[in-house]
This record gives sequence, C-alpha cells and structure tokens, in this order.
Amino acid sequence: LGVDPLVQRIKEKEKKWKYKVAVLSGKGGVGKSTVAVNLAAALAKMGYFVGVLDADVHGPNIAKMLGVEKTEVLAEKVDERFEMIPPTADFMGQVTPIKVMSMGMLVGEDQPIIWRGPLVTKAIKQLLGDVKWGELDFMIIDFPPGTGDEILTVIQNISLDAAIIVTTPQEVALLDTGKAVNMMKQMEVPYIAVIENMSYLICPHCGNKIDIFGEGGGERLAQKEGVEFLGKVPIDLKAREASDLGIPIVLYGDTPAAKAFMTIAEKLV
Ligand code: ADP
Repeated sequence: LGVDPLVQRIKEKEKKWKYKVAVLSGKGGVGKSTVAVNLAAALAKMGYFVGVLDADVHGPNIAKMLGVEKTEVLAEKVDERFEMIPPTADFMGQVTPIKVMSMGMLVGEDQPIIWRGPLVTKAIKQLLGDVKWGELDFMIIDFPPGTGDEILTVIQNISLDAAIIVTTPQEVALLDTGKAVNMMKQMEVPYIAVIENMSYLICPHCGNKIDIFGEGGGERLAQKEGVEFLGKVPIDLKAREASDLGIPIVLYGDTPAAKAFMTIAEKLV
C-alpha cells in the first residue's frame, strides 16, 4: 500500500505549526467563530504568527469576519502541483498578518454546499496539506458545531495540542457542550478548556451587570469535567457592527468583550 502523498504533505507541514488549537461547540450560534477570530486577532496583536482554518464547510464565515472574503486565493506551482496561498488580514498593520483559509473562499459564498462525508474529508485534507501555511505559532481550526467528519478528519491527520470548547451559560447549550468535551477526552487531546460566551451584559446606561442566561454554567461544567475554565466573554453591543465590517472585536474598540478576549488569549501563550 502506497502512502497518500497528501497525507504525507500534511505531516510535513504540521511540523512547522507550534500549537494546533481546535475551536468547537456543542451547538451552533454560541459564538464559536467569534471566539476563533478574536483569539486569532488577540494573538496576532501580541506579535504571534497565526493561521486560521475554517473547517466548517457548511456555513463558513471566518473569512468574512476577518475581512478577506473577497480576496482572491492565488496558487503557486510547487513540485508539479499547485499550492494555495492563504489571504492575509493585518488590519492596516495593527497585527502580525493572519493567514486565513476557508471553504467559502474556494466555492463562493452564494453557492450552497451539499457535500457527502468523503468530499468533506478530502476538502479538509487539502486545506491542511495543499496550502502554503509556512511557519506558524498558532494554527487555529474552527469546526462546525457538534462532532462530525471534520473533527475526525483533522484528528486522524494532525496531533491537536488544545481544544477550546465554546458554550453559553444556557442549560441546553451545556448538554451538547459536555458531549464535545467528552469527545476531546476520548481523542486524548492534551489540553481541553471551556470558554463561556455571552455570559452577561454590562448595561450601557447604568453600568450594572445583567446575567441574561443565568450565571456560572460554563465554569461549573469545566469543574465537573475536570478541564480548564478560560473565562467569560460578555455580550458586546458592538459585536454585530464589528463583524459586519469584518473587524474582530479585539481590534474594534475597548469594550468589555475585547478585554475578555485579550485576557483569555494571554492565558494561552
Ligand atoms: P457560531 O460560530 O457558534 O455559530 P457566531 O460566532 O457566528 O456563532 O456568532 C453568532 C452570532 O452571535 C453572530 O451574529 C455574532 O456576531 C454574535 N455574537 C457572538 N458572540 C457575541 C458576543 N460576545 N456579544 C454579542 N454578540 C455576539
């Protein structure tokens, strides 16, 4: 049996990525992509070399959140093959250029993607092995919600250093989150941590803290599962505005959520 050259290339490239971090969630809409881009931007702001791979082939939006969804992906000939060159985002020199690759860039955002498992697997492998990622301090991979083919493909091909599981304080989100934590334990990912997003709101009028979805759920979950709790990110009234403009919250203003993301990113280094 011959060795798949694509798998071989992934192995070679992986050696140049210092920390490989998965961002996961039990269910959709909890802010997983928001966490992925803001941690990427916070780390790049500290001067680290960061790559972000959007492995969510069914709803890719990372490129848009980093303002590179309209950037053309160029290719370069390497040993009789072509490698894609990841577009970069540096927000006018505010951060070390972040390399971004997502399915959305390859297929166009208006095209519906109806893919079966084997195609998803192949696409993810190509995003790992046929892209000129170069040397990275952090390779951040944003997965679709739940525990599907994408995460299995990545785990079978590279060794993840960390899994960050995003949840909201709501009970229903927490049940699914527990499953994601357990999957990472089964896969023996060495560092597993929980981030609680949309934890509370600071009232813009009176400055009081309002616990919209209850209090402390993420931390309790982390304690119960024996994994690290990285912190709480409040609801940010500027989040939608920033994301529409393609700017991560950490680079958009000095808001409570921006501070929370910076503090969490500092714990990762
Ligand atoms: P997921 O990747 O889990 O589906 P997204 O990151 O796309 O979730 O976030 C879902 C929506 O919630 C987006 O509109 C995003 O702007 C918003 N959002 C995420 N986190 C926050 C936050 N801390 N404050 C306010 N809005 C947020």
